Amino acid sequence: MKTGFVTDERCFWHDPGNYALMLKPGGYIEPYNRHIENPDPKRRLLNLVQVSGLADQLTRLASRDASVDELLWLHTQRHVAHVQAVAASGGGELGIGAPISSNGWDCALRSAGCGLAAVQAVMDGTVQHAYALTRPPGHHAEPDRSMGFCVFANAALAAEYAIRHHGLQRVAIVDWDVHFGNGTQACFEGRRDVLNISVHQQAGYHQVTGEADEIGTGAGQGYSLNVPLPPGCGFGAYRDAFERIVVPALDAFAPQLVIIACGYDAGKFDPLGRMLLDDVAFRWLTQCVADVAQRHAGGRLVLLHEGGYCPVSVPFWGMAVLEELSGIHTDVVCPFTVQHDKTPGQRLAPEQQRLVTALAAHFESVRQLYW
Ligand SMILES: [Zn+2]
Repeated sequence: MKTGFVTDERCFWHDPGNYALMLKPGGYIEPYNRHIENPDPKRRLLNLVQVSGLADQLTRLASRDASVDELLWLHTQRHVAHVQAVAASGGGELGIGAPISSNGWDCALRSAGCGLAAVQAVMDGTVQHAYALTRPPGHHAEPDRSMGFCVFANAALAAEYAIRHHGLQRVAIVDWDVHFGNGTQACFEGRRDVLNISVHQQAGYHQVTGEADEIGTGAGQGYSLNVPLPPGCGFGAYRDAFERIVVPALDAFAPQLVIIACGYDAGKFDPLGRMLLDDVAFRWLTQCVADVAQRHAGGRLVLLHEGGYCPVSVPFWGMAVLEELSGIHTDVVCPFTVQHDKTPGQRLAPEQQRLVTALAAHFESVRQLYW
């Protein structure tokens, strides 16, 4: 059961500048020296993977760039040319909250390419699962625009690669980043060869929606599945949503490959999310989707790192995922595990349970209608 791991130093060189979120210094906004989407959380995860010795036990996969032709599978010519032109002109804002520097084109190609390399290694049997530790992230990037720190639609391109190069007919994407994966949905909302499931904080990113009644369009109706959860959900609520909504949908769809848009901003310390997940929850989620992949996809599972902005906790959430994925347990002890049982918010609350019940009924009726 080999686990592949792909990353690239170039991804850590991606530089969105020094804005405090999307606020440009001026007036009463004091300049802040780091963008919220800075390399620290991901670089510190890589550091921990290395110092723990886990890196030596994973199968290191070679990174590569995505080609322009591959980007054009899902992105418009206009968008691809725009990213290239903004980088060539010295960098700037690509769209809505997606700034890049002069090296942004190179970094974005490499980030998307790492996802394609991960899929290739899983599909050709080099490894059973693979994790791509990359930035810029991708799940907010729509066919014609960048937004929310995302330049190109990494997870969607990875799914498309499996369909085009390996002839898959059913690929599932599960997005547990705390924000709605609007870009992935925009890529596939009219198609039924990709089941796209986004579990996110309701209205957690003001630019996008992600409500449960967004079920896809045309031939894709019923194959976009949005699970908006209220702020404050912990492990119990996520487990209930996965057990009663996500897993039944995946089992009914029977994917030939499972791709996870693996954000950590539903983690309890995240500055951009208001959920309570911890290492216990991320371990469970990983095992849950690995079991689905085992049942339907010969174990084929690819995780692409998306958001997650707390530099202290993300490395431990990521280690939890990688340990669970690989079955290799290091002597790293997550300093936050001890708090898990003492946090009432980790338990499923009655109102959360009622919401999941209502959403599960909604999706069941959608499936009856369109599948
Ligand atoms: Zn996010």
